[in-house]
Amino acid sequence: MNINMMDNDTAKKRIHELTALIQQYNYHYYVLDDPIVSDAVYDELFRELLELENQFPELKTPDSPTQKLGGAPLPFFNTIHHDIPMLSLDSVLTPPEVCAFEQRIRDKLKSIPADQSIAYVCEPKIDGLAISLLYRNRILERAATRGDGVQGEDITANAKTIKSLPLKLFGDDVPELVEIRGEVFMSKASFMTLNEKAKANQEKIFANPRNAAAGSLRLLDSRITAQRDLSLFCYASGIVSNGSLPETQMEQLNKFESWGLPICPEIKRVDNIAGCIDYFESMLQRRETIPYEMDGVVYKVDRIDWRHELGAASRAPRWAIAHKFPAIESQSRVLDIVFQVGRTGILTPVARLEPVVIGGATVSNATLHNVDILERLDVRINDTVIVRRAGDVIPQIVAVVEPLRPNDSQKFEIPKICPICGAPVVRIQDEVAVRCNAGLVCPAQLKESIKHFSSLRAMNIDGLGSKIIDIFVDIQLIKNPADLYTLSENQIAKLKGFGEKSAKNIILSIEKSKHTTFNRFLYALGIPGVGEISAKTLAKAFLTMDALLNASPEEFEHKRNLGLLPDIGPIVIANILSFFKNQYNRNLIGSLLDSQVCNIHWDTPQQEAVKPHALFGKVFVLTGTLTRLTRDQAKSQLEALGAKVTNSVTNRTDWLVVGSDPGSKLDKAKTLGISVIDEIQFLELIK
Ligand code: NAD
Repeated sequence: MNINMMDNDTAKKRIHELTALIQQYNYHYYVLDDPIVSDAVYDELFRELLELENQFPELKTPDSPTQKLGGAPLPFFNTIHHDIPMLSLDSVLTPPEVCAFEQRIRDKLKSIPADQSIAYVCEPKIDGLAISLLYRNRILERAATRGDGVQGEDITANAKTIKSLPLKLFGDDVPELVEIRGEVFMSKASFMTLNEKAKANQEKIFANPRNAAAGSLRLLDSRITAQRDLSLFCYASGIVSNGSLPETQMEQLNKFESWGLPICPEIKRVDNIAGCIDYFESMLQRRETIPYEMDGVVYKVDRIDWRHELGAASRAPRWAIAHKFPAIESQSRVLDIVFQVGRTGILTPVARLEPVVIGGATVSNATLHNVDILERLDVRINDTVIVRRAGDVIPQIVAVVEPLRPNDSQKFEIPKICPICGAPVVRIQDEVAVRCNAGLVCPAQLKESIKHFSSLRAMNIDGLGSKIIDIFVDIQLIKNPADLYTLSENQIAKLKGFGEKSAKNIILSIEKSKHTTFNRFLYALGIPGVGEISAKTLAKAFLTMDALLNASPEEFEHKRNLGLLPDIGPIVIANILSFFKNQYNRNLIGSLLDSQVCNIHWDTPQQEAVKPHALFGKVFVLTGTLTRLTRDQAKSQLEALGAKVTNSVTNRTDWLVVGSDPGSKLDKAKTLGISVIDEIQFLELIK
């Protein structure tokens, strides 16, 4: 019901319901580090409660979740008292709300003229948990969690296992007593490794890096915490005595860094609120490439004297705001689980979902990757699940909300036969996949192999889209990729939905595709494990199809020993040998060559001595937004040349590549005298 139309009794009832729900969710999230709903759902309920309390202020209770933060400390840790409370942050979702935040600041800061801009420090809002570090005479004395803001848990022993956390500060300007606050988090990569290990040992799987970090820091046994790869970024100060700190946020952070405390390299000072919005846009764009999870960015008034004037409300300071990114996770219900058959016959489980909007797009299917993950997550039909949609990645199910599992949930059955062709399905030992072994007899595999064969980076048959291939296979016009080269304009033109012009274009494209290269042809064949790069290596090493087709295991071994197959390991070699041994594949290659594909046109690459690229072993760091290629593309191109890409600038960095809007890495590189190049120079370098 619309809140504006609610009567007092209905509002009271709803406030009661929301309070109970949020309290339950808080307990699971803050105390058990094991949330039972997605953050998006939680945030929606929280906002509803805030709105209701605004409309009906007389119904607000002192113990409302909007007045409190966090959860009670766990009993097995000593409780500590925060002399200066550790607050949460108010959050906004849109630029107008950001402007309203600044307006509130201006209203409160009487002394500031309307034309004077307010500078802010913009920081990533890292999805971890807050920590307070107390240093006395430069030595770490105590580390504590935020807890409920006033009472936290003494987690000193566990915190000491965080590698980047200094146990002693350097510098002769450190106050006698200084409390540093920051965020403990787990990088995306460490989180994946942790869950992989947990899966192998049948231990608890964490829903996200935030819960993994919180769960790891609040363990009874610090030896286990030491095995978890936790990181730290510091962003604030607490109590200070016998000494002083600089008068702006940015200077304080620089000072912390000079004492040896880790500071997030993405932090940036901007002159006004417009700069904050630009920062948000740029971080949102780069979200996927940043190695840790962020759920937004934080804007903090830079001047500390203004902050004192602004003060705080019950849960959050008035001088800072979190500008949240659109949620990438939400929850939905599983309507069905179906299996899709891929090019190599692997069956991928896909969940059909009740449609849910995530990050602006409606999601109604999510991949479960393979039966192993399906079994591990124990996803059942009718389950409520947490769905994640990040960037261009296919939406995936990350967890089941078990407390919401209904009695009629249905466990799935791994199919015994291929849902497309009915052939028996096999589960290969030591593989996480189940597979239909019918090969190209299975229409699903046939369609996928032809789609791969004709794709842009393979034979590049322009205009032969996925729907057209489906039709050609369904009406049995083609039974393998070689059949494409036997098609005539006439055959296509008389099909429903095709005309003479489209038939002509398709045939032209097929004809054009005969002009290709050996490596593209090899890649198009779809040999398991042979991607574009290994296809190039094979083409260079064997030079002709004949040589490769008839190569013995010993020849492969010999070429490997000569260093001619640098990126091809024994498993891929076994795949190649078995592919070429198969008579069906030999016939297929024969037919393709007979139809004049490649053998008369392709440019045989000259055998070159394999010598390392000039960038081999060089260490690169990327900062700012690149415009001609994504960070991932830049990274993979560098890695293909044998260079390394790291996240922070150190003495070992050889090059810093700077896009627009670079972070503080640029300053650091300049200080350390590291070579700095822009995107154009970078493209030249890797050419
Ligand atoms: P918050 O996480 O929204 O914001 C405050 C926290 O941000 C700080 O305590 C600090 O830990 C962190 N932070 C990260 N980077 C920072 C930076 N640069 N500067 C300052 N602080 C920074 O607030 P909260 O009170 O900790 O948690 C509320 C949020 O937690 C909710 O919005 C919700 O998304 C989530 N939550 C989820 C559930 C659930 O069941 N899914 C339950 C409770 C809370």
